[in-house]
Amino acid sequence: MKLVIELTKAPYSIVSVMYLPYIWIVIVLLFGPPGCGKGVQAAFISSRFRIPSISTGEMFRSECKAGTELGRSACKTLSAGGLIGDDVVNAILARRIGLPEYSSGVLLDGYPRTLAQGLFLDRTLEQRGADPVISIHLEVPFPDIVKRITSRRQCPACSHIYNLLYQRPQVPGVCDRDGAALMTREDDREEVVWRRLRIFEEQTGPVINHYADSRYYKVDGALGPAEVSARIEAVLQQCAVPA
Ligand code: ZN
Repeated sequence: MKLVIELTKAPYSIVSVMYLPYIWIVIVLLFGPPGCGKGVQAAFISSRFRIPSISTGEMFRSECKAGTELGRSACKTLSAGGLIGDDVVNAILARRIGLPEYSSGVLLDGYPRTLAQGLFLDRTLEQRGADPVISIHLEVPFPDIVKRITSRRQCPACSHIYNLLYQRPQVPGVCDRDGAALMTREDDREEVVWRRLRIFEEQTGPVINHYADSRYYKVDGALGPAEVSARIEAVLQQCAVPA
């Protein structure tokens, strides 16, 4: 994180470290295929580096709730099961990151999803005099993700989620809490998972390539969550050169 160190002329020297108000400090983009554990790492980055995060899902929901014109348009599209167009996503994002709480930095999770969104983000940040973004790409081989997700089982009674790889029920196929027969959720079926991964590759692959030339860091997302966090921490600390 970029810090400003101010030396005062007091008889004893005081070094005060402060964040510049209303100037972009750090913009982190977090990329990774669906099911790679991105949510956990976004929460880690946010709390460890005190960077507020914006996830597209949360952004749409709050915009819907606020009842703005953009929000209503996004709501309508989402409830019809459609995809929100780049123009609407961009407009919502631009307004959101302009809010004072994001003035010293922001972590974007799930944006930019397409190359058009990436180019829009670049222009927006350039206009606002922001530093180039830092991109973190959590890389996990697709077959590993498929294996992990298709091993999930959910209890239809209490909604608890098990995983046959590392969090098995005591009796196979039966919920520990209430004895209900466990089920595979529609979203966790192999074809569905592969479809989502292919869409990610198709849409977001070009975005990742676009950012690969600048401050771009690949992190092995197949490791345990704590190890992944440690590697992300090292990357961000390395980028945090004092001004
Ligand atoms: Zn249950």
